[in-house]
Amino acid sequence: MKVAIYTRVSTIEQAEEGYSISEQQDKLKKYCDIKDWKVARVYTDPGFSGSNTNRPSLQQLISDCKNNMFDAVLVYKLDRLSRSQKDTLYLIEDVFNKNGVGFISLSENFDTSTAFGKAMIGILSVFAQLEREQITERMTLGRVGRAKAGKAMSWANCPFGYIIQKEIYEIDPFRAEIVKRIYRDYLSGVSITKITQKLNEEGHVGKNVNWSYRTVRQILGNIVYAGYIKYKNEIYPGLHKPIVSLSDYKKVQVELEKRRITQAQLFNPRPFRAKYMLSGLMRCGYCNSVLQIYTTQLKSGVQLHNYKCPSSSPKSSSRYKRHDFDCGFTRVRKNDVESVVISEIKKLPLNMDKVINNKENKDNAKEIKAIKVELQQVEKKQDKIVDLYLLDNINVDELNKKNDELSKQKENLQKRLNSLTDNKKKEKIEDFIKNAKEAKNIDKLDYEKQKVIVRNLISGIKVFNDKVEINWNI
Ligand SMILES: [Zn+2]
Repeated sequence: MKVAIYTRVSTIEQAEEGYSISEQQDKLKKYCDIKDWKVARVYTDPGFSGSNTNRPSLQQLISDCKNNMFDAVLVYKLDRLSRSQKDTLYLIEDVFNKNGVGFISLSENFDTSTAFGKAMIGILSVFAQLEREQITERMTLGRVGRAKAGKAMSWANCPFGYIIQKEIYEIDPFRAEIVKRIYRDYLSGVSITKITQKLNEEGHVGKNVNWSYRTVRQILGNIVYAGYIKYKNEIYPGLHKPIVSLSDYKKVQVELEKRRITQAQLFNPRPFRAKYMLSGLMRCGYCNSVLQIYTTQLKSGVQLHNYKCPSSSPKSSSRYKRHDFDCGFTRVRKNDVESVVISEIKKLPLNMDKVINNKENKDNAKEIKAIKVELQQVEKKQDKIVDLYLLDNINVDELNKKNDELSKQKENLQKRLNSLTDNKKKEKIEDFIKNAKEAKNIDKLDYEKQKVIVRNLISGIKVFNDKVEINWNI
C-alpha cells in the first residue's frame, strides 16, 4: 500500500509545545515500516494553522489524491489534518473517500478502512454540525470584541461622512463637512426639517438620493461622529477620528430632547387656560375665522354669552378680523353649542368605527405586516453575508456588492413602511378610544372636568348657522 504522510505545525505550536515536524515524520515513517507500507510522498506545512485548508502542501495532497498517487493518507493526529470538524469531514468524505483513498490518524487509532473508522465519520459529522451552529455564536462574540476594539461595526450602513478602510472608519473629508454643518446648524437653532430642506435645495450633494428627516435625525443622534462605537447599547471608544467634538454631540442630544418636549407641548396645549369649554376651538364654517365670545348683560343682571365670527360684521374692529366682507355667520349661543358638543361626545362610543374609519385605511395593516417581515429577512441576510466574509467564504468585493443590493432593498422597504405607518397615529387612536369610553358620563360632570375632556377629544369645531362639524382628535 502506498501512503502519503501529511504533517503540519503552526508557528505558535512550534514555539509553545515544541511539537516539531521532524518528530511527527519520524513516528509516521516508523509506523509505515512496521505495517510494511510504502511512503509515496511526505507533505509538510510548517508554520500553518489548521483553522482552514489554505495550505500549500495540503492543496498539493488534495490534487495528488485525485490523481491516484497513493492509497491512504497518514497523519500523526487528527488535528494535524485540520482543526475544523467541518473541514475534516470534507477532506475525508469529499476528497479521500471519493477517490478511494483511506485515511489513518495514528494517535486516535482512526482508520477509515475499518468499521470503527467508518463509525467515527458519523460522529465527526455530528461535531461538524455542532461547529457550524457555534460559528454564529462566535460571530456575535466576535462583534462585541470588534466594538470593544473600536473597530467599524457596520458593513451594511457605513455612517455618512466615513468610509471603511481596513475595518476602521476613515473620514471622508467632503462628507464630513456636511455632517459638521448639520451639527452646527442644529445647534444654532435651525430645525431638522429646515436642515433637510436646505440640503435638498442644494441638490443633496454627497448623497445619491434626497435627504430625509430621518437621515438627518440619525446623524444628529449617532455617537460614531464623536469618535465612539455603539454596539447593543454599550459604548466603546472607537479607533476612528471624530467628526464633531464630544461636547457638541452632547449639546445636540440635550437640544434634541428639549425640542422634542416643546414639540409635544405644542401639539398638546394645556386645556385649562381657556375660561370656556369651546373657546379657541371653534372656527366659522364660512370664513374659517376663530369665533369670539361676546357677553351682554341684561337689565335683570343675567349674562348672555354668544359666539360670533369677528369677520361677520364689516364695521367690527376686532383684532381677530380676517377680512372686510360679511361672511354670513350670525351667532351661536354658548350654552347651545356646548350642549350639542356634549351630546356628540356621549354618542361617540356608538359612532367609533365610523369616526376611526374616516381616519384610517384598514387595508394598510396587512401590507405593513408583510413589509416588516421582509425587512427582518433582509437584515438577516445582511448579517449572514458579514458572517460569510468573516469566515473567508466571500471576498470584500462580493461583500460590498451584496451589501449594496440589500441596503437598497432595505431603504425602499423602509420608505414604503414610513409612508404606511405612523406609530404615533396608532397610539393616538388608542388614546382616543380610551378617552372616549371614559367620557360617556360627561353630562354628569362639572364644567371644569368637561372642559378637559372636550379638549382631549376634539381638535377643532366648524360652526355654521345651522350645524356644527366636529374634528375628532385622532
Ligand atoms: Zn365668518
